[in-house]
Amino acid sequence: MKTYKIAAIPADGIGPEVIDAGLQVLNALSERDGGFRLDVTSFDWGSDRYKKTGALMPEDGPEQLKAFDAIFFGAVGAPDVPDHITLWGLRLPICQGFDQYANVRPTKILPGIKSPLANVGTGDLDWVIVRENSEGEYSGHGGRAHKGLPEEVGTEVAIFTRVGVTRIMRYAFKLAQSRPRKLLTVVTKSNAQRHGMVMWDEIAAEVSKEFPDVTWDKMLVDAMTVRMVKHPQSLDTIVATNLHADILSDLAGALAGSLGVAPTGNIDPERRFPSMFEPIHGSAFDITGMGIANPVATFWTAAQMLEHLGEADAAKRLMTAVEQVCAQGVLTPDVGGSANTQQVADAVCAAIRGANDVTQQAVE
Ligand code: NAD
Ligand code: MN
Repeated sequence: MKTYKIAAIPADGIGPEVIDAGLQVLNALSERDGGFRLDVTSFDWGSDRYKKTGALMPEDGPEQLKAFDAIFFGAVGAPDVPDHITLWGLRLPICQGFDQYANVRPTKILPGIKSPLANVGTGDLDWVIVRENSEGEYSGHGGRAHKGLPEEVGTEVAIFTRVGVTRIMRYAFKLAQSRPRKLLTVVTKSNAQRHGMVMWDEIAAEVSKEFPDVTWDKMLVDAMTVRMVKHPQSLDTIVATNLHADILSDLAGALAGSLGVAPTGNIDPERRFPSMFEPIHGSAFDITGMGIANPVATFWTAAQMLEHLGEADAAKRLMTAVEQVCAQGVLTPDVGGSANTQQVADAVCAAIRGANDVTQQAVE
């Protein structure tokens, strides 16, 4: 039997609530599946640790994580710690340190969940957003001169490299090719930004030659928001910069019903280091401790994690169970239901056992 070593970092706010639910469904899966086992180690890294020790994780944190097959992450952010400290103290050092350059964000409208868009239902919106996750606008370059003075200047420098853009473009074309519609939209702002963004367009055209069966087009990011709302059916796989895709994928999550259902994988496609799987949402101070956080994003990212580990059948079984439970209306308040986190987790665990029985019967 295969054993996977998982590092769980629940961190802040609703992070521990959704990661706890996620571990319950993962355990239910491995119990019923029997083909794999998860060896989970939990780390108490996050804002509480920062308030006590001055650091969100120990100095050798990334070194400790290297021993794991994957990282299962909750959320960071606390009301009394500046957001740039929490983000740069934990999540970004892991993404950038492990060169998890492909941030993969699937979106679809799950059965039983209503999109805020009129006349758009399950099947009308089925996207994967690929976010460049290692450079661009979040490279951390820039500075402030004359701090606090009237003549102060602040810069945020976006860095795009040929290596970085080519590898994310190739990843996106490959992913588009693996999906039934073989459709890719490359998003930039190459009208107003005429250096790195024009390079994106040129590299997209170059890489497209390796994928003659993929149909692709280009969009400016502002027009893209309109297309996502007005013609969601016209999109399939989408690739964009770190900043643009960050924004577009929050919109995508909202169009699919709630941020509480939106998952993400921070992936090192070369598998040199562990990849990290997390819900897109943050620590949601407004509902922390109420027990009503939607665990679906975390379940979905757990499925992404299983798929990455090579357990595609288990991943599929998990998503089937999640879809069954959503269709039954066992939903948290953010998507119009009245169930709490634990009730959704219980229902998904029960569906996993049921779904497995069906498979067993079919085999016998
Ligand atoms: P947020 O995602 O935490 O919350 C936005 C809104 O969505 C809130 O009303 C919240 O209740 C709701 N929501 C989010 N997840 C939900 C879930 N699973 N179920 C039900 N409702 C859910 O974003 P924010 O309020 O902008 O940020 C709060 C903190 O989280 C900040 O400190 C921010 O920096 C941090 N943050 C962290 C991450 C991350 O760890 N990857 C991502 C985004 C924000
Ligand atoms: Mn974001």
